[in-house]
Amino acid sequence: MTRRTLLSLGSALAALGAARPALAEETFEVTKSEAEWRKLLTPAQYAVLREEDTERAGSSPLNDEHRKGTFFCAGCDLPLYSSEAKYDSGTGWPSFYEPLPNAVGTKADWGLLGKRTEVHCRRCGGHLGHVFGDGPAPTGKRYCMNGLALVFRAA
Ligand SMILES: [Zn+2]
Repeated sequence: MTRRTLLSLGSALAALGAARPALAEETFEVTKSEAEWRKLLTPAQYAVLREEDTERAGSSPLNDEHRKGTFFCAGCDLPLYSSEAKYDSGTGWPSFYEPLPNAVGTKADWGLLGKRTEVHCRRCGGHLGHVFGDGPAPTGKRYCMNGLALVFRAA
């Protein structure tokens, strides 16, 4: 398959995605059965990544991770965030002002608090957290992540 074919396939898929209801199941490059995910992940990681649970604020050791490096998806090991984009949001969850290119997908998430934007790994669909519009420069975005969904490796 040529790069051009891949690109047009990509835009066709993007168009399809836009036409579908927000809550429709997306398909992902990395798919596993529930049993396989349960084997791979700890129960707490499974609850966040596969069931969209939220870890307790302040519970992640990654809140205090300030070394240079990369944050990978705990489900499929895709690089998601650079330490360069990490900042202390004061929320108790690891926060970033931008993801790495082509790392995450988003969907509308309607809940008790109204509409939020859910953030997931674009490769395995694992739930990571939410993105809000009250972040710092240069993007003004706050990617509020569950530390359980991330694995940090120092550069
Ligand atoms: Zn992933």
